[in-house]
Amino acid sequence: MVEESVSSSASEAAPYRVVVVGGGFGGLQAVRKLRGAAVDITLVDRQNFHLFQPLVYQVATGALASAEVAAPLRSVLRRQENARVVLAEVGGFDLEGRQIVLDHLPNGQREQRLDYDTLVVGGGSRYSYFGHDDWRAYAPELKSLSGALDIRNRILSAFEAAEVEWDDERQRSWLTFVVVGGGPTGVEMAGQIAELARDSLRLDFRWVDTRNARVLLVETADRILTGFPPSLSRKAERALEQLGVTVLVGHTVVDVGPVSVSIRSGSGQIEDVPARTAVWAAGVAASPLAAELASAGGSSVDRAGRLTVTADLTLPNHPEVFAIGDMVRVVKSDGTDMTLPGLAPVAMQEGRYVARVIRNRLRGRTTGPFEYVDKGNLATIGRSKAVADVKGIRVSGFAAWVTWLVVHLFYLIGFQNRLLVVTRWTFSFLTRGRGARLIAASRAEDTE
Ligand SMILES: Cc1cc2nc3c(=O)[nH]c(=O)nc-3n(C[C@H](O)[C@H](O)[C@H](O)COP(=O)(O)OP(=O)(O)OC[C@H]3O[C@@H](n4cnc5c(N)ncnc54)[C@H](O)[C@@H]3O)c2cc1C
Repeated sequence: MVEESVSSSASEAAPYRVVVVGGGFGGLQAVRKLRGAAVDITLVDRQNFHLFQPLVYQVATGALASAEVAAPLRSVLRRQENARVVLAEVGGFDLEGRQIVLDHLPNGQREQRLDYDTLVVGGGSRYSYFGHDDWRAYAPELKSLSGALDIRNRILSAFEAAEVEWDDERQRSWLTFVVVGGGPTGVEMAGQIAELARDSLRLDFRWVDTRNARVLLVETADRILTGFPPSLSRKAERALEQLGVTVLVGHTVVDVGPVSVSIRSGSGQIEDVPARTAVWAAGVAASPLAAELASAGGSSVDRAGRLTVTADLTLPNHPEVFAIGDMVRVVKSDGTDMTLPGLAPVAMQEGRYVARVIRNRLRGRTTGPFEYVDKGNLATIGRSKAVADVKGIRVSGFAAWVTWLVVHLFYLIGFQNRLLVVTRWTFSFLTRGRGARLIAASRAEDTE
């Protein structure tokens, strides 16, 4: 049993058991801020690394290698003696018995139980295909490392296919890229594909002119970057167009297949765009752990699948169960919603808050409700352009891009990763090159 092999020996040193599910932005902060506390922490994650999602799109376009945006959880917590890591998928919760159910353990075991005194769940979110999960095969999501590597393979393979394609129409379809969703991820992705085609690959191909690539960014709303003020959305749109991206606001993707993407315009007309490569960056839904926890604790989820938690981030009637990050909706004591964006700083601040509550409880002290400090919003568009909205100060262009670089380097986990990323960025900036352009698998057979 896991509770025998994982918990009991550690509990001799620290009797109070805190189990944290998810080593993402929220969960990892909670663990790290409990360093030195008289608790025995078990961090459970189904992957053995913390993924820095804000830079995953750079892996998908060959600008960074996967190890540079991920940090092994064991190495992150190497010096934190009160924390241990268990690699497993959490499949369920028994809140009455104060146990979680672990599945897919690395030794092949399933349905093992792990005891806790306090539980913190930060399972994150995933992309929603709006009920069209069959589109996933043709438009992979940019959420996981495997998704990013899949996208990188597809993009690079599309250019390779275009190089050996003699039929003009088919070549055009290989050179057409559709990015679905005009949020920060879609904007960053579209900008990077355009730069890849215009700059990085231009001199590497002999037959095909990669500058002829078409990049379509499709957004249902009437502007991109709806989380930013309209003036910055307009600037971002102009910057994308300068890079050669066609921005289709007020348009909706209504079908995705192996060789085409159907796009409906605002007037209702549907166009089938021949395109072999699509990237999904639209519609976020909470981790299924939110629904599991809601049903175990008699709580509810909203339309995006987010679990309702109270102002101290606990499950109603379960003060020993915290849920944080993308998977939750926080409701204040007066019943109103806190409407927090699905951003890393929100999850991190929630993780830090939970650690503070746990420490205070151990000392017999109370803690006030969670309050979010909005430090601003950033999105990059290309090699030297970005938009930033920091406490009402709106910046765009090079200054915003430098801010974006500094902020991302600051929050990236691991000194080695920071050093590698800054070296790669400097090299790419000077040479317009991309070092991580390997195709790990061919896809031509999938699409014929
Ligand atoms: C491509 C992309 C770009 C982004 N860019 C930005 C940005 O520029 N700025 C910004 O602020 N935010 C950005 N975000 C959003 C930000 O990454 C999220 O808000 C943040 O990761 C949420 O943190 P979290 O702790 O809730 O979840 P996550 O960081 O997603 O962590 C969830 C963890 O839970 C684990 N997990 C999930 N289910 C299970 C299970 N059943 N069993 C065990 N483990 C499980 C996962 O493996 C993962 O490690 C971006 C997101 C994406 C996808």
